[in-house]
Amino acid sequence: MQPDDHRSVGWPGITNIKNKLPASELLHGFTICHKVWRRSKFRAAKTRETGFNHGPLGSCQPRRAAHSPVPIGIARRQQRHRMRGSDRTTPTAKENPLELKPVTPTAKRDEKFTGDVYVNPICKGEDPSRMIVSLVRFTPGAHTYWHSHALGQILHVTDGIGLVATCDGTVIQMRQGDTVYTPPGEDHWHGATATNMMCHLSMFEGIGDSDGVTWHKPVTDDEYLAANSGSS
Ligand code: MN
Repeated sequence: MQPDDHRSVGWPGITNIKNKLPASELLHGFTICHKVWRRSKFRAAKTRETGFNHGPLGSCQPRRAAHSPVPIGIARRQQRHRMRGSDRTTPTAKENPLELKPVTPTAKRDEKFTGDVYVNPICKGEDPSRMIVSLVRFTPGAHTYWHSHALGQILHVTDGIGLVATCDGTVIQMRQGDTVYTPPGEDHWHGATATNMMCHLSMFEGIGDSDGVTWHKPVTDDEYLAANSGSS
């Protein structure tokens, strides 16, 4: 009996689920969707009876691949299990050029920040890429020191309400979905408002071996309060 020979399992010219069911089980005029068939007792019975896995409508596949000693269902479960393990971060280039990076631990940042700030590094590009991307979470009142980025910076707010301010008194209040660009060499600070959390993606490029960030003094309480009042 050939797996793909429908006649051999008694269903000549199968094009409709009705042909697979005993006449006594049919309701005239009704069709049955794939999901119902896959879960039905008729499918299970046919699978037991014929030794083939009768999955989707009209299919008739062997229960195990010819080259594999492992039944198909078990092989697929084993594959999924492997994908959940450590192997999934180290596929060979030949098998799959994609690379699933491990989730980085959250680190509390103290230097150059005021208040409680938590960072998850996401990406540091390898030469020739200079890309540096981090997810930065600021608790209410937390913010960076004054600083600038050699090649500018893009901030994209993923949650909460934040502020970004420059020396000339410009203050932008930013919310979820907002993106703010700070030009190369422009001194600025950014962080949460005094009353809200704020989380943003920080994206910029380094220069050579440096991250290209030039840090200055802390933002004073007066500067922070003024930015908060000016943005409301
Ligand atoms: Mn910045």
